[in-house]
Amino acid sequence: MKRRLCPQCKIPNFYLLNEKSERRLVFVTDDFRIVPSRPGETLDGFDTTVIYCLGCSWSGSPRKTVRY
Ligand SMILES: [Zn+2]
Repeated sequence: MKRRLCPQCKIPNFYLLNEKSERRLVFVTDDFRIVPSRPGETLDGFDTTVIYCLGCSWSGSPRKTVRY
């Protein structure tokens, strides 16, 4: 499965936040699906409209990620 990359630092590792400011590690597939990085985890309760890069200060819509 191909993963899309941060437009700034070009890594595929992102996280989401929920209302308790807890993080969920995710990646974004080529067709813009957000998938938990760890098997068995869900995205329940997490805001999937904004993703945050693990490697730099970038955050934004999953649509703003780039292809490698
Ligand atoms: Zn980044």
